[in-house]
Amino acid sequence: MKKIYLCPKCYEVFALDSYPGEICPRLGCGGFFVFGVDEAMLETIIILNKKGYKTKCCCSGHVHRLSNIYIAFHPECEDRLINNLPEGFKFVPSSEHQDNDKFDFSFTIQDDIPYCERMKLFSDKNIELYNWACSLPVFLED
Ligand SMILES: [Zn+2]
Repeated sequence: MKKIYLCPKCYEVFALDSYPGEICPRLGCGGFFVFGVDEAMLETIIILNKKGYKTKCCCSGHVHRLSNIYIAFHPECEDRLINNLPEGFKFVPSSEHQDNDKFDFSFTIQDDIPYCERMKLFSDKNIELYNWACSLPVFLED
């Protein structure tokens, strides 16, 4: 199944069967990495990166099993976001991550609740993250 990859330099989106490698496939971009993003979180991740909140890995969650909706960030924007986190998400500071190379926040979709409730949480929480990203001030000019 195709996965969506985003270049954080040119913000081009690529739907590919496999990881395209470190170099952005767009001719002339020169971006030196692309990362996989779930469709339900794509716009949120673009907004965050354009505002200077550089993201690392992320997941929009799943409805068919226990899963975490999460976004991990480079530690450089931790001080800026620490007092401005989306409500109801569990925050894990970089000091608690191996190598202190990221911080993240997450929301767990439990698998012991009805399917419709999982669908609703998946949708509601991803919309909340999108609105949260829209509401953030610019951290660093792109
Ligand atoms: Zn690019």
